Amino acid sequence: RRAAFAAMKGEPPVTKDGHRVTMMVNAGLRDDVAALDLTGADGIGLFRTEFQFLVSATLPQRERQQRLYRDVLDVAGDRPVVFRTVDIGGDKALPYLDHAEGHDEENPAMGWRALRLALGREGLMKAQARALIEAASGRTLNVMFPMVSEPWEFDEARALFEAQREWLRGRGKPLPTDIRYGAMLEVPALADVLDFLWPSLDFLSIGTNDLTQFLFAADRADPRLALRYDWLSPAILRFLRRVTKAAQEAGKPVAVCGEMGGRPLEAMALIALGIDRLSITPAAVGPVKAMLRSLDRGAAMAEIDRLLATPARTLRPALEDWAKTNG
Ligand code: PEP
Ligand code: MG
Repeated sequence: RRAAFAAMKGEPPVTKDGHRVTMMVNAGLRDDVAALDLTGADGIGLFRTEFQFLVSATLPQRERQQRLYRDVLDVAGDRPVVFRTVDIGGDKALPYLDHAEGHDEENPAMGWRALRLALGREGLMKAQARALIEAASGRTLNVMFPMVSEPWEFDEARALFEAQREWLRGRGKPLPTDIRYGAMLEVPALADVLDFLWPSLDFLSIGTNDLTQFLFAADRADPRLALRYDWLSPAILRFLRRVTKAAQEAGKPVAVCGEMGGRPLEAMALIALGIDRLSITPAAVGPVKAMLRSLDRGAAMAEIDRLLATPARTLRPALEDWAKTNG
């Protein structure tokens, strides 16, 4: 099978009924970027910048960050890379950073992490903004913010980047040709105020790992809960359908970058809900592409709407059956 997936590398991710899906990979370290060539992916849809912080003994200085981002962009060439600003805290605590600022957190996943921490530590965020902007000189910089819970947080983060761009412009530094700003949708509250967000947002990326944890109030790291809440449950699928429709009506690109998109059956459900951008772990590109190329997207869309109209704990068995009888 592995050889068959490798042989498919040059084949485009197009469904049987001719719909082109954008297939990107998730990455975090310099070496991960080789996955672009190995998989033939369209780009990096999630570059987890906190990985450099996690593997460092001390806070990486701006120059070191910039060197990494520049190297990643050089390897990517004209393929887009979406850099996510640091998602520190929660399950990614840094020993050298007092991320909880003296507070013991009972619920780190819901605590002082990700964009909350970054906005509270402006020096850290400003250094990262400058590193990203300088690294992307002469090309488009795609940047997204993790765990946006309310639109004002996104607006503040964007304004911080814009201020750094102006600062660098004032010093005659070479700048990106364009900066595109995205938000990760991981906190359910954001879904109901997306209309406030659209005017200043360029793209949305759904992080289904955290989203699932927050939708079900179920710790993503607790193995006792892992089997209990299914990505193919009506609550998640309906939620994703609603967000996808809202984004499409607003004319904004929407991707899924959580692990859900890396499983063929789950990816099939996402495509059936109208998602056409996936960013997944490199090892999943072959299996997901094989699924896509045998999928009748139109028929899957009709089937998932039909299935979502009737009560079920999960759509998994029904979708498995459908997948078997439909290629
Ligand atoms: C997610 O939450 O789905 C996500 C992609 O971010 P991370 O797994 O890094 O929290
Ligand atoms: Mg997340």
